[in-house]
Amino acid sequence: VPVIGVLALQGDVREHLAALRAQGAEAVTVRRPAELARIDGLVVPGGESTTMAKLAARFELLEPLRAAIAGGLPAYGSCAGMIMLADRLLDAPADQVTVGGLDVTVRRNAFGRQVDSFESEVALDGIAGGPLHAVFIRAPWVEEAGPEVRVLGRVVGGPADGKIVAVRQGHLVATSFHPELTGDRRVHALFVDIVREHLAQQAGAVAGNERG
Ligand code: GLN
Repeated sequence: VPVIGVLALQGDVREHLAALRAQGAEAVTVRRPAELARIDGLVVPGGESTTMAKLAARFELLEPLRAAIAGGLPAYGSCAGMIMLADRLLDAPADQVTVGGLDVTVRRNAFGRQVDSFESEVALDGIAGGPLHAVFIRAPWVEEAGPEVRVLGRVVGGPADGKIVAVRQGHLVATSFHPELTGDRRVHALFVDIVREHLAQQAGAVAGNERG
């Protein structure tokens, strides 16, 4: 059973733990650098990214998180988590740091300050089962995505029609919306699959080394 950590500095941690458990993963909270060694994947939840980034720095988690992700740890960021995994930010305080890893430019509060929260359909590519009904809360979007980034979802209709709200780059996934708040478990299922594949690859590499 894959062990998946949820970064528990701030934000909607409980809902992600429940969604991960519903997909058959063992889900644990992560607050300390040493806890990163025990997990096979990491979820960075929604919340408030400026606060989350400050707490990550204070808890001395930024460098360990960067190292873990550079070393191949699968990670999924939702909303503030998407901001945390982005390499570049727009409309963020100049001193706001991120963990990074995703070759994207993410605009914070992209849907406008007045639009606190709303729901919209998201057209999916690379996730089966038709459009996803998504909940957005002061959400970011992906303004620009590098060549290695696969766009998994775009807003359908309304003023934000076509905006990129779900992406994948190798072992990293991010969504602007909050699938942990709805009954649709397809994003968590995709992420748990990525973690399982990563574990299987690691096991294969170890077996190869033992043989060689
Ligand atoms: N706007 C928030 C931020 O800047 C994100 C909101 C959310 O995670 N629901 O982090």
